[in-house]
Amino acid sequence: DEAQITRRFILHFSAELEEKYIRRLSIITELKKELSNTQGELALFYQPKLNLTHKKVTAVEALIRWNNAKLGFVSPEDFIEVAEHAGFIGEITAWVYQQAIQDIHSFRAQGIEVTVAINISAQDVMNPELLPTIISLLHAYDLPTCVLSFEMTEGHLVKDLGKAVQQLSLMRDAGFKIAIDDFGTGYSSLSYLSRLPADILKIDKSFVLKLNELTSDQNIVKSVIQLGHQFNMEIVAEGVENQESLNLLIDYGCEWAQGYHICRPINAASFVQWFQEYQY
Ligand code: C2E
Ligand code: MG
Ligand code: MG
Ligand code: MG
Repeated sequence: DEAQITRRFILHFSAELEEKYIRRLSIITELKKELSNTQGELALFYQPKLNLTHKKVTAVEALIRWNNAKLGFVSPEDFIEVAEHAGFIGEITAWVYQQAIQDIHSFRAQGIEVTVAINISAQDVMNPELLPTIISLLHAYDLPTCVLSFEMTEGHLVKDLGKAVQQLSLMRDAGFKIAIDDFGTGYSSLSYLSRLPADILKIDKSFVLKLNELTSDQNIVKSVIQLGHQFNMEIVAEGVENQESLNLLIDYGCEWAQGYHICRPINAASFVQWFQEYQY
């Protein structure tokens, strides 16, 4: 009868919730364990960004990877948000910029000059220690600030926009470029374009993946490129998976392309090799 169906539904529903909850808890436990006593489970991968004006790769995005002994491979989509909620994203970010700066140092020793973008969260932007720490680390490696840039998703900044704007301005003044990531999704609002001090606008891959097929996406991407240019921003299209899409982006005046068609995210050693062989 109906009561029984409802009961079965609730049981099923709560079992599913519990499973999710347990997984989140083990992500927190395992990740904290790894951060405090590293077993080498974390890795930083690099995905090239092709400059469409010069047809050269002069920038890359650093993307974290985590392969845990117990949980297996966990996507950053799954653990970054958990770490943000649990309040320890700062520890991940610290691991990321330390690794990135080491890698930049080694890239340069091999003649590779690229700007490495790291992804930061709102909590990082609000952390007053972040900027001085990164600057002194770069200094220790004898590297200028322009070797590093930051990508952030603007939706997370709404809680204290004034403070965020202030922090981002400091970062910019120090010589770091700031990108607004995933533009067009989530909470993104047009008013951020005039309020956030940013140099680069990244069009979310959901509008780019089928650019070659969908005229609706073509209209959106074309408009966002024009919009970004009105605010003196350079545009990066992420999720470029084929040459037709790449050609369209060149037609539209987009400055940068990133996606599987150019290269997937790969480890530092593979990136060095890829870079040395790449020819547009
Ligand atoms: P994001 O910053 O927007 O990064 C772009 C994502 O799109 C990456 O997923 C990348 O692998 C994927 N991608 C790039 N090109 C293509 C393509 O042509 N096709 C498709 N289907 N996908 C493509 P990934 O590495 O799984 O990262 C997911 C998200 O996790 C990132 O989105 C970023 O928000 C977050 N994330 C990754 N690494 C870090 C990190 O070190 N720190 C922080 N705070 N967040 C990170
Ligand atoms: Mg990003
Ligand atoms: Mg993105
Ligand atoms: Mg994203």
